Amino acid sequence: MDEAEARMVVRRCKSFTIMNNELYKRSISRVFQRCVTPEEGRQILRDIHAGDCGHHAGALSIVAKAFQHGFYWPTAHSDAVDLVRACGGCQKYASQSHMPGLALKTIPLT
Ligand SMILES: [Zn+2]
Repeated sequence: MDEAEARMVVRRCKSFTIMNNELYKRSISRVFQRCVTPEEGRQILRDIHAGDCGHHAGALSIVAKAFQHGFYWPTAHSDAVDLVRACGGCQKYASQSHMPGLALKTIPLT
């Protein structure tokens, strides 16, 4: 009923197509990305992040890799951020300051 929302839906649906009974999205670089469910997408992100060849990369990097390999789901970025924040290895070996603690020193006024 909302005309603005109807125009938005028409504009967005132009990038989707159905081939062999599967939904595909055409990315900006004209690569067809197969639309997967969020559960499948989270499994893909887990495999990329901490799988056999996973190197615990950041959220943007693993989402980019999943999209480059032809997968798409709309909640990919938030799923990746949640995955990286919940990863124990990333939290344990994150960059930490190894400088010894020192007492605060006042800087004399000149
Ligand atoms: Zn990790």
